[in-house]
Amino acid sequence: MKSGAAVKKIDEISPASEASTQELLRELLVRLGEDPSRDGLLRTPERMQKSLEYLTKGYQQDADKVLQGALFDVPYDEMVIVKDIEMFSLCEHHMLPFFGKVHVAYIPNGKVLGLSKIPRLVDIFARRLQVQERLTVQIAETIQNAINPQGVGVVIEARHLCVMMRGIEKQHSSAVTSHMLGSFRTLQNTREEFLSLIRNGKNGNSF
Ligand code: ZN
Repeated sequence: MKSGAAVKKIDEISPASEASTQELLRELLVRLGEDPSRDGLLRTPERMQKSLEYLTKGYQQDADKVLQGALFDVPYDEMVIVKDIEMFSLCEHHMLPFFGKVHVAYIPNGKVLGLSKIPRLVDIFARRLQVQERLTVQIAETIQNAINPQGVGVVIEARHLCVMMRGIEKQHSSAVTSHMLGSFRTLQNTREEFLSLIRNGKNGNSF
């Protein structure tokens, strides 16, 4: 799977491409009933553009390339866990934030990843328009493809503002997704060890 999907040029997608992004955002403010010329809103289109570019910067980053420089041959075959990784993303249905914690584990098969690369990988996929399920799968499969470990497990616990702010099903505002590959899928002991290790930590139940 190619994780750094090519981004189409705007001209190929949008006939409105002659307007600048800030002009479009200014027009949006008008259509929402606002006066974009009042003091507090004067620079809002500019700030929104910067903010949106930051929150979707993952489109400019190639996860496979980032991992290429950080693969190490290490004869270690116990579980490696990086847990409570902070995650902020935007849901692709409403472009509202969903955020929470990501837990990643794998059992090496001759190669390990630099530990700092795992939060980086989470960020590359989270800084795009996402659904939580796909984010979970992309993190797991990218690790699988990079180091071909004995197994990978990814669990994400997140809260979705599109659900919380819009007042529907508030009791379901927290969602947990998981994706297990290799021994995490086939061996119940391995899966349970992972799940109990992410529950037992000082932050494990705080969400
Ligand atoms: Zn949504």
